Amino acid sequence: MCPFNYDLTGKKVFVAGHRGMVGSAIVRRLATEDCEILTAERKDTDLLNEEQTRRWLERHRPDTVVLAAAKVGGIGANNALPVDFLCENMRIQLNVIQSSHAVGVDRLLFLGSSCIYPKFAKQPINEDSLLSGALEPTNEWYAIAKIAGLKMCQAYRQQFGRDYISAMPTNLYGPGDNYHPEHSHVPAALLRRFHEAKLADAPSVAVWGTGTPLREFLYVDDMADACVFLLKHYSEREPINVGTGDEVSIGQFAAMVAEAVGYLGKLEFDTSKPDGTPRKLLDCSRLLSLGWKPKTSLQEGLPKALHDFLDGGGRHLHVTSDAAE
Ligand code: GDP
Repeated sequence: MCPFNYDLTGKKVFVAGHRGMVGSAIVRRLATEDCEILTAERKDTDLLNEEQTRRWLERHRPDTVVLAAAKVGGIGANNALPVDFLCENMRIQLNVIQSSHAVGVDRLLFLGSSCIYPKFAKQPINEDSLLSGALEPTNEWYAIAKIAGLKMCQAYRQQFGRDYISAMPTNLYGPGDNYHPEHSHVPAALLRRFHEAKLADAPSVAVWGTGTPLREFLYVDDMADACVFLLKHYSEREPINVGTGDEVSIGQFAAMVAEAVGYLGKLEFDTSKPDGTPRKLLDCSRLLSLGWKPKTSLQEGLPKALHDFLDGGGRHLHVTSDAAE
Protein backbone atom coordinates (compact mmCIF):
# COMPACT_ATOMS: atom_id res chain seq x y z
CA MET A 1 0.00 0.00 0.00
CA CYS A 2 1.25 3.48 -0.86
CA PRO A 3 0.78 6.02 1.93
CA PHE A 4 0.87 9.02 -0.48
CA ASN A 5 -1.74 9.55 -3.19
CA TYR A 6 -1.85 12.33 -5.76
CA ASP A 7 -4.93 12.35 -7.96
CA LEU A 8 -4.15 13.12 -11.61
CA THR A 9 -7.84 13.47 -12.48
CA GLY A 10 -8.48 16.77 -14.22
CA LYS A 11 -4.87 17.90 -13.74
CA LYS A 12 -2.89 19.73 -16.43
CA VAL A 13 0.36 17.79 -16.84
CA PHE A 14 3.18 19.38 -18.85
CA VAL A 15 5.59 16.84 -20.37
CA ALA A 16 8.79 18.72 -21.23
CA GLY A 17 10.69 16.74 -23.88
CA HIS A 18 7.67 14.99 -25.43
CA ARG A 19 9.49 14.29 -28.72
CA GLY A 20 12.18 12.21 -27.04
CA MET A 21 12.11 8.50 -26.25
CA VAL A 22 11.11 8.91 -22.60
CA GLY A 23 8.85 11.95 -23.00
CA SER A 24 6.89 10.35 -25.84
CA ALA A 25 6.43 7.17 -23.79
CA ILE A 26 5.18 9.25 -20.85
CA VAL A 27 2.68 11.00 -23.14
CA ARG A 28 1.45 7.55 -24.35
CA ARG A 29 1.06 6.39 -20.77
CA LEU A 30 -0.59 9.58 -19.51
CA ALA A 31 -3.14 9.30 -22.32
CA THR A 32 -4.69 6.44 -20.32
CA GLU A 33 -5.20 8.75 -17.31
CA ASP A 34 -8.00 11.24 -16.90
CA CYS A 35 -5.72 14.27 -17.16
CA GLU A 36 -4.91 16.97 -19.70
CA ILE A 37 -1.48 16.53 -21.34
CA LEU A 38 0.39 19.69 -22.31
CA THR A 39 3.39 19.75 -24.66
CA ALA A 40 5.51 22.52 -26.15
CA GLU A 41 7.02 22.38 -29.62
CA ARG A 42 10.67 23.34 -29.81
CA LYS A 43 10.13 25.68 -32.76
CA ASP A 44 7.87 27.86 -30.56
CA THR A 45 9.36 27.27 -27.13
CA ASP A 46 13.02 26.45 -26.78
CA LEU A 47 13.60 25.13 -23.27
CA LEU A 48 17.19 26.39 -23.54
CA ASN A 49 15.72 29.89 -23.60
CA GLU A 50 14.71 31.22 -20.19
CA GLU A 51 12.23 33.80 -21.39
CA GLN A 52 10.45 31.46 -23.81
CA THR A 53 10.22 28.78 -21.15
CA ARG A 54 8.86 31.22 -18.55
CA ARG A 55 6.34 32.66 -21.01
CA TRP A 56 5.07 29.23 -22.03
CA LEU A 57 4.58 28.20 -18.40
CA GLU A 58 2.85 31.50 -17.55
CA ARG A 59 0.47 31.01 -20.44
CA HIS A 60 -0.39 27.36 -19.76
CA ARG A 61 -0.06 27.15 -15.96
CA PRO A 62 0.21 23.37 -15.55
CA ASP A 63 -0.56 21.69 -12.23
CA THR A 64 2.25 19.19 -12.70
CA VAL A 65 5.47 19.11 -14.72
CA VAL A 66 7.43 16.09 -15.92
CA LEU A 67 10.94 17.16 -16.88
CA ALA A 68 11.99 14.60 -19.51
CA ALA A 69 13.78 17.10 -21.76
CA ALA A 70 17.53 16.64 -21.85
CA LYS A 71 20.54 16.40 -24.08
CA VAL A 72 21.21 12.67 -24.10
CA GLY A 73 23.53 10.25 -25.81
CA GLY A 74 25.71 7.20 -25.37
CA ILE A 75 29.29 6.85 -24.27
CA GLY A 76 30.61 8.24 -27.59
CA ALA A 77 28.48 11.38 -27.53
CA ASN A 78 29.26 12.10 -23.88
CA ASN A 79 32.97 11.88 -24.56
CA ALA A 80 32.79 14.00 -27.70
CA LEU A 81 30.46 16.77 -26.50
CA PRO A 82 31.21 17.50 -22.80
CA VAL A 83 30.23 21.19 -22.99
CA ASP A 84 26.90 20.40 -24.64
CA PHE A 85 26.03 17.69 -22.12
CA LEU A 86 26.97 19.79 -19.09
CA CYS A 87 25.68 23.21 -20.12
CA GLU A 88 22.55 22.35 -22.11
CA ASN A 89 21.23 20.07 -19.41
CA MET A 90 21.94 22.59 -16.65
CA ARG A 91 20.23 25.30 -18.68
CA ILE A 92 17.09 23.25 -19.44
CA GLN A 93 16.82 22.28 -15.78
CA LEU A 94 17.29 25.83 -14.52
CA ASN A 95 14.73 27.18 -16.95
CA VAL A 96 12.07 24.54 -16.39
CA ILE A 97 12.42 24.11 -12.62
CA GLN A 98 12.82 27.81 -11.78
CA SER A 99 9.93 28.86 -14.03
CA SER A 100 7.72 26.04 -12.75
CA HIS A 101 8.22 27.35 -9.23
CA ALA A 102 7.67 30.95 -10.36
CA VAL A 103 4.27 30.13 -11.89
CA GLY A 104 3.17 28.10 -8.88
CA VAL A 105 3.66 24.50 -10.07
CA ASP A 106 3.57 22.49 -6.88
CA ARG A 107 4.44 19.06 -8.21
CA LEU A 108 7.29 18.22 -10.57
CA LEU A 109 8.99 14.97 -11.56
CA PHE A 110 12.62 15.32 -12.63
CA LEU A 111 14.26 12.50 -14.58
CA GLY A 112 17.90 11.73 -13.89
CA SER A 113 20.04 8.74 -14.71
CA SER A 114 21.86 5.87 -13.03
CA CYS A 115 25.17 7.46 -14.11
CA ILE A 116 24.82 9.99 -11.26
CA TYR A 117 26.14 7.36 -8.87
CA PRO A 118 29.85 6.81 -8.21
CA LYS A 119 31.73 4.59 -10.65
CA PHE A 120 32.61 2.11 -7.92
CA ALA A 121 29.41 2.35 -5.87
CA LYS A 122 28.47 -0.75 -3.90
CA GLN A 123 26.18 -2.96 -6.04
CA PRO A 124 23.25 -3.02 -6.33
CA ILE A 125 23.41 0.76 -6.07
CA ASN A 126 21.03 2.32 -3.62
CA GLU A 127 19.95 5.94 -3.53
CA ASP A 128 22.10 6.70 -0.49
CA SER A 129 25.33 6.18 -2.43
CA LEU A 130 24.83 9.49 -4.25
CA LEU A 131 27.97 11.67 -3.92
CA SER A 132 29.89 9.01 -2.00
CA GLY A 133 32.69 8.67 -4.60
CA ALA A 134 34.13 9.72 -7.96
CA LEU A 135 32.01 9.49 -11.12
CA GLU A 136 32.66 7.46 -14.27
CA PRO A 137 34.71 9.87 -16.45
CA THR A 138 33.00 8.98 -19.76
CA ASN A 139 29.73 10.50 -18.61
CA GLU A 140 30.60 12.80 -15.73
CA TRP A 141 29.40 15.91 -17.62
CA TYR A 142 25.90 14.55 -17.99
CA ALA A 143 26.01 13.14 -14.46
CA ILE A 144 27.04 16.45 -12.87
CA ALA A 145 24.17 18.23 -14.64
CA LYS A 146 21.70 15.57 -13.51
CA ILE A 147 22.97 15.73 -9.92
CA ALA A 148 22.46 19.51 -10.05
CA GLY A 149 18.90 18.92 -11.28
CA LEU A 150 18.01 16.58 -8.46
CA LYS A 151 19.63 18.96 -5.97
CA MET A 152 17.48 21.79 -7.37
CA CYS A 153 14.40 19.70 -6.65
CA GLN A 154 15.61 19.12 -3.09
CA ALA A 155 16.42 22.83 -2.68
CA TYR A 156 12.96 23.93 -3.82
CA ARG A 157 11.45 21.43 -1.41
CA GLN A 158 13.59 22.69 1.47
CA GLN A 159 13.26 26.43 0.83
CA PHE A 160 9.75 26.70 -0.63
CA GLY A 161 8.03 23.45 0.34
CA ARG A 162 7.62 22.42 -3.31
CA ASP A 163 6.78 18.77 -3.93
CA TYR A 164 9.50 18.21 -6.54
CA ILE A 165 10.68 14.60 -6.87
CA SER A 166 13.43 12.85 -8.84
CA ALA A 167 13.52 9.41 -10.50
CA MET A 168 16.76 7.74 -11.57
CA PRO A 169 16.25 5.28 -14.42
CA THR A 170 18.67 2.57 -15.40
CA ASN A 171 19.70 2.20 -19.10
CA LEU A 172 16.58 2.61 -21.24
CA TYR A 173 15.68 1.37 -24.72
CA GLY A 174 12.62 1.16 -26.94
CA PRO A 175 10.55 3.09 -29.48
CA GLY A 176 11.69 6.63 -30.18
CA ASP A 177 15.36 5.95 -29.45
CA ASN A 178 18.14 7.83 -31.24
CA TYR A 179 19.78 5.58 -33.84
CA HIS A 180 22.83 7.71 -34.57
CA PRO A 181 25.73 5.31 -35.30
CA GLU A 182 28.29 7.07 -33.06
CA HIS A 183 26.20 8.97 -30.52
CA SER A 184 23.43 6.57 -29.58
CA HIS A 185 23.25 4.24 -26.59
CA VAL A 186 24.17 0.60 -27.04
CA PRO A 187 20.67 -0.84 -27.76
CA ALA A 188 19.92 1.54 -30.66
CA ALA A 189 23.51 1.38 -31.93
CA LEU A 190 23.51 -2.41 -32.12
CA LEU A 191 20.00 -2.73 -33.55
CA ARG A 192 21.09 -0.51 -36.37
CA ARG A 193 24.55 -2.02 -36.90
CA PHE A 194 23.31 -5.62 -36.92
CA HIS A 195 20.44 -4.75 -39.22
CA GLU A 196 22.80 -3.07 -41.69
CA ALA A 197 25.26 -5.98 -41.42
CA LYS A 198 22.45 -8.44 -42.12
CA LEU A 199 21.42 -6.53 -45.24
CA ALA A 200 25.04 -6.31 -46.41
CA ASP A 201 25.72 -9.97 -45.56
CA ALA A 202 28.73 -8.78 -43.53
CA PRO A 203 30.71 -11.63 -41.91
CA SER A 204 31.30 -9.72 -38.65
CA VAL A 205 30.13 -6.70 -36.68
CA ALA A 206 32.02 -4.53 -34.19
CA VAL A 207 30.78 -4.25 -30.62
CA TRP A 208 32.51 -1.51 -28.59
CA GLY A 209 34.69 -2.38 -25.65
CA THR A 210 35.46 -5.77 -24.12
CA GLY A 211 31.87 -7.01 -23.83
CA THR A 212 32.35 -7.57 -20.09
CA PRO A 213 30.61 -4.50 -18.58
CA LEU A 214 27.31 -5.32 -16.93
CA ARG A 215 24.20 -3.27 -17.64
CA GLU A 216 20.53 -3.34 -16.70
CA PHE A 217 18.06 -2.45 -19.48
CA LEU A 218 14.54 -1.18 -18.92
CA TYR A 219 11.93 -0.94 -21.70
CA VAL A 220 10.89 2.72 -22.04
CA ASP A 221 7.14 2.07 -21.68
CA ASP A 222 7.86 0.45 -18.33
CA MET A 223 9.80 3.58 -17.39
CA ALA A 224 6.81 5.72 -18.38
CA ASP A 225 4.55 3.53 -16.27
CA ALA A 226 6.91 3.99 -13.33
CA CYS A 227 6.86 7.78 -13.84
CA VAL A 228 3.07 7.89 -13.67
CA PHE A 229 3.16 5.61 -10.64
CA LEU A 230 5.64 7.96 -8.92
CA LEU A 231 3.59 11.04 -9.80
CA LYS A 232 0.68 9.41 -8.04
CA HIS A 233 2.48 7.80 -5.11
CA TYR A 234 5.89 9.32 -4.33
CA SER A 235 6.55 12.49 -2.43
CA GLU A 236 10.01 12.31 -0.88
CA ARG A 237 13.14 14.43 -0.95
CA GLU A 238 15.34 11.47 -1.92
CA PRO A 239 15.64 10.33 -5.54
CA ILE A 240 14.15 6.95 -6.35
CA ASN A 241 15.74 4.30 -8.61
CA VAL A 242 13.84 2.70 -11.49
CA GLY A 243 15.18 -0.55 -12.94
CA THR A 244 14.51 -4.23 -13.44
CA GLY A 245 16.95 -5.92 -11.07
CA ASP A 246 18.30 -8.01 -13.98
CA GLU A 247 21.70 -7.44 -15.53
CA VAL A 248 23.44 -8.78 -18.60
CA SER A 249 26.98 -8.40 -19.91
CA ILE A 250 27.35 -6.28 -23.05
CA GLY A 251 28.54 -9.48 -24.80
CA GLN A 252 25.32 -11.31 -23.83
CA PHE A 253 23.25 -8.28 -24.73
CA ALA A 254 24.89 -8.01 -28.16
CA ALA A 255 24.09 -11.69 -28.79
CA MET A 256 20.45 -11.05 -27.87
CA VAL A 257 20.23 -8.08 -30.23
CA ALA A 258 21.84 -10.12 -33.02
CA GLU A 259 19.25 -12.84 -32.45
CA ALA A 260 16.33 -10.35 -32.45
CA VAL A 261 17.61 -8.87 -35.72
CA GLY A 262 18.38 -12.30 -37.24
CA TYR A 263 22.05 -11.50 -37.83
CA LEU A 264 24.10 -14.70 -38.02
CA GLY A 265 27.67 -13.33 -38.41
CA LYS A 266 30.41 -12.95 -35.85
CA LEU A 267 30.63 -10.33 -33.06
CA GLU A 268 34.04 -8.66 -32.79
CA PHE A 269 34.87 -6.68 -29.67
CA ASP A 270 36.63 -3.41 -30.47
CA THR A 271 38.74 -2.77 -27.39
CA SER A 272 39.92 0.58 -28.71
CA LYS A 273 36.47 1.86 -27.66
CA PRO A 274 35.67 2.61 -24.00
CA ASP A 275 33.85 0.17 -21.72
CA GLY A 276 32.50 2.85 -19.40
CA THR A 277 31.57 1.87 -15.89
CA PRO A 278 32.11 -1.86 -15.17
CA ARG A 279 28.73 -2.42 -13.55
CA LYS A 280 25.66 -0.38 -12.62
CA LEU A 281 22.85 -2.40 -11.22
CA LEU A 282 20.29 -0.31 -9.39
CA ASP A 283 18.82 -1.29 -6.07
CA CYS A 284 15.12 -0.68 -6.68
CA SER A 285 13.82 -1.94 -3.36
CA ARG A 286 12.44 1.51 -2.49
CA LEU A 287 10.23 1.50 -5.61
CA LEU A 288 9.33 -2.19 -5.37
CA SER A 289 8.22 -1.70 -1.77
CA LEU A 290 5.70 0.88 -3.00
CA GLY A 291 4.17 -1.78 -5.24
CA TRP A 292 5.52 -1.04 -8.77
CA LYS A 293 7.30 -3.56 -10.97
CA PRO A 294 8.42 -3.72 -14.62
CA LYS A 295 6.49 -5.86 -17.12
CA THR A 296 8.65 -6.17 -20.23
CA SER A 297 11.58 -8.60 -20.48
CA LEU A 298 14.41 -8.03 -22.95
CA GLN A 299 13.07 -10.96 -24.99
CA GLU A 300 9.79 -9.07 -25.41
CA GLY A 301 11.19 -5.55 -25.60
CA LEU A 302 13.98 -6.00 -28.15
CA PRO A 303 11.66 -7.11 -31.00
CA LYS A 304 9.45 -4.08 -30.27
CA ALA A 305 12.47 -1.78 -30.37
CA LEU A 306 13.56 -3.39 -33.65
CA HIS A 307 10.09 -2.85 -35.06
CA ASP A 308 10.36 0.86 -34.22
CA PHE A 309 13.71 1.09 -35.97
CA LEU A 310 12.45 -0.70 -39.08
CA ASP A 311 9.28 1.37 -38.99
CA GLY A 312 11.12 4.63 -39.55
CA GLY A 313 12.77 5.36 -36.20
CA GLY A 314 16.05 4.93 -38.05
CA ARG A 315 15.31 7.85 -40.32
CA HIS A 316 15.81 10.27 -37.46
CA LEU A 317 19.53 10.38 -37.23
CA HIS A 318 19.91 13.44 -35.02
CA VAL A 319 22.96 13.59 -32.80
CA THR A 320 20.91 13.70 -29.65
CA SER A 321 17.25 13.68 -28.81
CA ASP A 322 15.05 15.40 -26.29
CA ALA A 323 14.76 12.63 -23.79
CA ALA A 324 16.12 11.70 -20.46
CA GLU A 325 18.59 8.86 -20.68
P1 GDP B 1 26.64 3.72 -20.61
O1 GDP B 1 25.79 2.74 -19.86
O2 GDP B 1 26.54 5.11 -20.09
O3 GDP B 1 28.06 3.25 -20.71
O4 GDP B 1 25.97 3.84 -22.05
P2 GDP B 1 26.10 3.18 -23.51
O5 GDP B 1 24.77 2.65 -23.86
O6 GDP B 1 26.67 4.19 -24.44
O7 GDP B 1 27.16 1.99 -23.40
C1 GDP B 1 26.91 0.82 -22.67
C2 GDP B 1 28.00 -0.20 -22.92
O8 GDP B 1 27.82 -0.74 -24.24
C3 GDP B 1 29.44 0.29 -22.85
O9 GDP B 1 30.22 -0.69 -22.21
C4 GDP B 1 29.83 0.39 -24.32
O10 GDP B 1 31.23 0.24 -24.53
C5 GDP B 1 29.06 -0.79 -24.90
N1 GDP B 1 28.84 -0.72 -26.36
C6 GDP B 1 29.09 -1.72 -27.24
N2 GDP B 1 28.85 -1.32 -28.51
C7 GDP B 1 28.39 -0.05 -28.41
C8 GDP B 1 27.95 0.90 -29.39
O11 GDP B 1 27.95 0.67 -30.59
N3 GDP B 1 27.50 2.11 -28.93
C9 GDP B 1 27.49 2.41 -27.58
N4 GDP B 1 27.04 3.59 -27.20
N5 GDP B 1 27.95 1.54 -26.64
C10 GDP B 1 28.38 0.32 -27.05
